[in-house]
Amino acid sequence: MALLETAGVPNGGVSFWYSQIGRPESGSPLAGDDECDVCIVGGGLTGLWTAYYLAKADPGLRISVLEAEFVGYGASGRNGGWLSAELPGSLARYARGPHGAEGAERLVTALRATVDEVIAVCRDEGIEADIVRGGVVFVARTPAQLARLHADEPEPPAKLLTAEEVTQRIAVAGALGGHLDPDCARVQPARLVQGLAAVVRRLGVTIHERTRVTAIEPGLARTSGGTVRAPYVLRCLEGYTAGLAGQRRTWLPMNSAIVVTEPLGAERWASIGWANSELLGDNAHAYCYAQRTADGRIALGGRGIPYRFGSRTDVDGRTQAWTIESLRRTLADLFPQIADVRLAQAWCGVLGVPRDWCASVSLDPGTGLGWAGGYVGNGLSATNLAGRTLCDLVLDADSDLRRLAWTNRRVRRWEPEPFRWLGVRAMYGLYRIADRRETAKRLDRTSRVGRFADVISGR
Ligand SMILES: Cc1cc2nc3c(=O)[nH]c(=O)nc-3n(C[C@H](O)[C@H](O)[C@H](O)COP(=O)(O)OP(=O)(O)OC[C@H]3O[C@@H](n4cnc5c(N)ncnc54)[C@H](O)[C@@H]3O)c2cc1C
Repeated sequence: MALLETAGVPNGGVSFWYSQIGRPESGSPLAGDDECDVCIVGGGLTGLWTAYYLAKADPGLRISVLEAEFVGYGASGRNGGWLSAELPGSLARYARGPHGAEGAERLVTALRATVDEVIAVCRDEGIEADIVRGGVVFVARTPAQLARLHADEPEPPAKLLTAEEVTQRIAVAGALGGHLDPDCARVQPARLVQGLAAVVRRLGVTIHERTRVTAIEPGLARTSGGTVRAPYVLRCLEGYTAGLAGQRRTWLPMNSAIVVTEPLGAERWASIGWANSELLGDNAHAYCYAQRTADGRIALGGRGIPYRFGSRTDVDGRTQAWTIESLRRTLADLFPQIADVRLAQAWCGVLGVPRDWCASVSLDPGTGLGWAGGYVGNGLSATNLAGRTLCDLVLDADSDLRRLAWTNRRVRRWEPEPFRWLGVRAMYGLYRIADRRETAKRLDRTSRVGRFADVISGR
């Protein structure tokens, strides 16, 4: 696994989470044509949760997962480890979909219950993923961020925090207030996805790694190693969807990057607190997200350079020097007391963003083609709920999951290049300007530039 140095920091290697547990051996690729009952394309959490619930519901089903690299190679093995109940997208937009406001409320409730579900499955199946349910703290560090934080009354058990309450938990510089949602947990992403893959294999699911799907058609998935025929073919590729024939404009592969520090000693931790392993995020437009790792480091992520022209993706998680420097500055800004800490690794990955920034889970009973994704950075628990939803759609089970707001909704496609690239660059440029203005001018509400960026992004 190539770990190059960029800006003095080991860069890539898929993710630090794999540096911790070791890169898994890739299993056997598909060798020749095959057939099964359900063919799942993509071995991330969406594909694996779908396989898990299908195999549990009907142990006789022949299920195959086709994965281009190794399971958990994508976002599922690289993410920030926020197992959160956050809705991927806007409640109002979901409410305008085929299942109305009730479907949107059902989705919110189901996502909240999903955090429990993931933790329960991990416990019951013996998946060790460093899970700690410490909640998530969002900190406001400018008056405009505080105004956004106070705009909506938090729904219990979530609550607002004063500046003192934030810093008593985590000594973030310049905190003006915060928001705590206790229903979230920290995980080690690679342990979760590799643990789940082992369970799925034990349940009899076939996983072909180093098997890249080149095209999906009703009843089959084509790969360089052969064609798999199945009445159901499920596309579970999230940020990699654009790499498939005919899907270039379906979901935009949005880049996110993370840096992780060396372990901080007891003295440094004493200056920060963070005793409950909460997840930590901010309320900036170009927001950041962080966790305290099980081995006493800070992993901090953010947007970096958001999008590569033509929907290209990274090589083994290698990110740009600019992004590493930007995350290093964010870390030092949040925690000046550890500004000199060494970074142990940097990496990036892609997540899937639909044109309307809302996720979808669909199955066309006529063709047997289905898909799930577009979780816009909130995929860790959403993949579990999506897997259960896809399972019920395939089995034609009459369940509430089929009436969630994201089920069988249609989303328009992204613009062709160069408009896609220009649009995303402009949007994130504007968000950065908005953050700078709100900070420099101490604005007490979202700057006009930020509101304009929201409009052009279609969020
Ligand atoms: C840096 C980063 C941080 C994030 N942080 C968080 C977080 O803290 N909390 C949260 O909720 N969400 C987070 N997300 C989002 C979340 O990780 C994803 O939404 C989720 O993991 C998507 O899972 P998936 O299985 O749909 O896709 P992926 O995990 O990306 O899996 C897709 C799989 O398909 C494979 N593949 C690609 N092309 C092909 C092909 N042609 N044929 C076969 N296989 C193929 C890939 O190798 C990959 O393994 C983050 C994402 C990133 C990138």
